[in-house]
Amino acid sequence: MGEQKGLVDPFTLADEDGYIWLKGNLHSHSTNSDGKVSPQERVDGYVNAGYDYLCVSDHHTITRIDTVSCPDEFTLVQGVELHPDNPFGGQRHHFLALNMTEDMNAQVMPPQAVIDAVHKQGGSIWLAHPHWSSVNILRDTMPLRGLAGIEVFNTTCRCMGRGESSVHWDDWMELGGQILPALANDDAHAAESTERDTYHGWTMVRVKERTAEAVVEALATGASYSSSGPEILDIKLKRVDEGKRTVEATVSCSEARRIFAVCDSYGVEYHEGGELFETATLTLRPGAKYVRFEIVDAQGYKAWSNPYDLANL
Ligand SMILES: [Zn+2]
Ligand SMILES: [Zn+2]
Repeated sequence: MGEQKGLVDPFTLADEDGYIWLKGNLHSHSTNSDGKVSPQERVDGYVNAGYDYLCVSDHHTITRIDTVSCPDEFTLVQGVELHPDNPFGGQRHHFLALNMTEDMNAQVMPPQAVIDAVHKQGGSIWLAHPHWSSVNILRDTMPLRGLAGIEVFNTTCRCMGRGESSVHWDDWMELGGQILPALANDDAHAAESTERDTYHGWTMVRVKERTAEAVVEALATGASYSSSGPEILDIKLKRVDEGKRTVEATVSCSEARRIFAVCDSYGVEYHEGGELFETATLTLRPGAKYVRFEIVDAQGYKAWSNPYDLANL
């Protein structure tokens, strides 16, 4: 897939080297925009639900992390959801900007200027819920440079039937000739309720420190995976044939009903006739350029690995 280095594989980062998994949600709203609970109530909800990190990403204006409190071991990421105009024809953009310090009037700025301004202050900016926003990747996203990756799952958008953006993810990677990391988020607006838009989408990051900088670095380099239920424990890839064009993948996970290896063209499904399993070996189609994995559990909840660049394997 071109010249880029590929992403960091979180499953190669060892416990012995001090790496830990953190569970978090990077997209939520409070009464500072259109959320139903105060910033402090939003934080308390995620602390009590057993999360390790949270971003209260209100629309337009940064909700400052020094206005809320949380336990020492909980990590707050300071961010905002920005909505620049879309000069390419689609709806106004929804970008999630993380590790932000300065507010900007994104609504009157072109999207590329917003992306550049976020980078200038050391932030990381992501494409939020493209399925829900009717984003056409070719029209709306390909003209832009510097987005870190895609929100592949959004719980609030699932409540409206457009929660998953995996096709947009594949489109973007195929059109751009590069692999990109993903996030899964709640985009929580409601008051606490396990049946609506809280506590159903999260991103697991592999980090050494419980800091916002470490979390965002892990997200941007791909040392993470996204989930609405299943846990991914390990992914191992190896070339198996003489010509070294065929790749075999072994996935270990919490109890799954099926696993998809999604490649740039074609892909493979693994199942055991509806029985649950915790490890699977899949043989990929020779010549595949990238592969990412979707794990589906008995309830239909999913986890999404980040893609692997097979050219660098
Ligand atoms: Zn949005
Ligand atoms: Zn939102």
